[in-house]
Amino acid sequence: MTAKRITHWIDGKPFTGTAARQGEVFDPALGTVTGHVDFAAEDDVDAAVAAAGAAWRSWRSSTLSRRARVMFDFRAALLRRRSELAAVITAEHGKVLSDADGEIARGLEVVEFACGIPALLKGGFSESVSTQIDVTSICQPVGVCAVITPFNFPVMVPLWFAPIAIACGNAVVLKPSEKDPSASILLAECLAEAGLPDGVFNVVQGDAIAVNRLLTHPDVRAVSFVGSTPVARHVYETGTRHAKRVQALGGAKNHMVVLPDADLDAAADAAVSAGFGSAGERCMAVSVVVAVDPVGDELVARITERMARLRTGDGRRGCDMGPLVTAAHRDRVASYIDAGVEAGATLVVDGRGADVDAVEDGFWLGPTLFDNVPPGASIYTDEIFGPVLSVVRAPSFDEALDLVNASPYGNGTALFTTDGSLARRFQHEVEVGMVGINVPIPVPAAAYSFGGWKASLFGDTHAYGPDGVHFFTRSKVVTSKWPRTAAPASRPDLNFPGNL
Ligand code: NAD
Repeated sequence: MTAKRITHWIDGKPFTGTAARQGEVFDPALGTVTGHVDFAAEDDVDAAVAAAGAAWRSWRSSTLSRRARVMFDFRAALLRRRSELAAVITAEHGKVLSDADGEIARGLEVVEFACGIPALLKGGFSESVSTQIDVTSICQPVGVCAVITPFNFPVMVPLWFAPIAIACGNAVVLKPSEKDPSASILLAECLAEAGLPDGVFNVVQGDAIAVNRLLTHPDVRAVSFVGSTPVARHVYETGTRHAKRVQALGGAKNHMVVLPDADLDAAADAAVSAGFGSAGERCMAVSVVVAVDPVGDELVARITERMARLRTGDGRRGCDMGPLVTAAHRDRVASYIDAGVEAGATLVVDGRGADVDAVEDGFWLGPTLFDNVPPGASIYTDEIFGPVLSVVRAPSFDEALDLVNASPYGNGTALFTTDGSLARRFQHEVEVGMVGINVPIPVPAAAYSFGGWKASLFGDTHAYGPDGVHFFTRSKVVTSKWPRTAAPASRPDLNFPGNL
């Protein structure tokens, strides 16, 4: 099979640009190079921003009904090409096909939210705030918006931002992950099929060079970023220093607390699906289960029994869990297994050398479980982003809650219990942005907003939902006077205008 070339999309068509540097794209289940992706030089980014800026000047004045129609037609195009999109995700990310389809479904929810843009952009009006004076507030688009996304959701995360940005009247430059870049071009094609004018949505492929140019380009007004915490911090600091509004979503270490009164089968099911779905490469994955005494032994037994039934292998063969995204990432994740053993944790299931339903050269690591993990161990403190689940024992609800709140991250958390009053205390006191009660992966529905606290998000607006509309618009307040008769001639008045 010849390797394909993946390039940029600028002003409504593929754009090859300078193409002085390229990266390899792998099929992680086969372990082979299937493509080469162009890495944008600064000039390529400038071309994308220029196209976006030019397109924005007319798109910002497009009618709300036209923007809504484009979103409805974008949804139809995504549905038409859904299986093609899922296949591309699996081929470059490795997640199993059903999971790839699941991320498309969650992305579609945001497109559906954006279809309601006429209602979302309603402003305010006050009549007669002063004599013959009225006040109107309107939401206007921001301009050229950069969207920089991670490898783990090549469709869903771009769809958290682009539909709302576009529906609000902005133009977008997307910089997807260089590890699985092809889906971004399919999204661009779907938007073009939906009748979006050329230049309103552009894609630049590449690495830090492209990102840093977007962060410093004077015509980029807003930056939405999703990725690891160190890069999120860099994006936030650099973007704000260059006077842009920035929302930068970072990494996570999500805890799931299981109380003794919980339905243990439901909790074990949840731990396994949230710990090993997408091979643990989800920012909302559960990476720590906090078992509150005395449930630990029984819970670990039920999790272990379920893990034995998981089939790891090629995501196109109906397996439960696919490979890791690259060999380097697989090796990094596997190195944590040694680190966990050295730190004194009990290795209950070792995923190294697990049976896989696939060719051997893929980037495989089976589901791995540690028990009695000491909170100082690197498997507890670091975001591993792989199929390694840690169980920590806590003597009481209070100590479990303290453990969650001591984490520097605050993306997602879950509590499993049948005690409503403890559930209410947990949701009130836990310092985490997204909380599940008997729900392991509490990704908010599209009418709400997605975002963590602490080192999981820099900035003050979350993704999509009402926060998304707020982020992609700026408000303007117009105070107007239309007197019925000409005012009598009077002396100029230099006093501060009051409302009479
Ligand atoms: P990453 O931080 O390596 O890359 C994210 C994006 O930043 C990519 O487009 C990449 O090209 C770019 N980038 C990488 N290094 C850079 C640098 N030094 N300077 C400028 N740009 C750079 O993240 P990843 O490995 O692609 O994705 C996994 C991470 O994303 C995990 O930490 C995960 O928790 C996080 N994530 C968070 C959320 C969330 O909502 N909080 C959602 C998904 C993923």
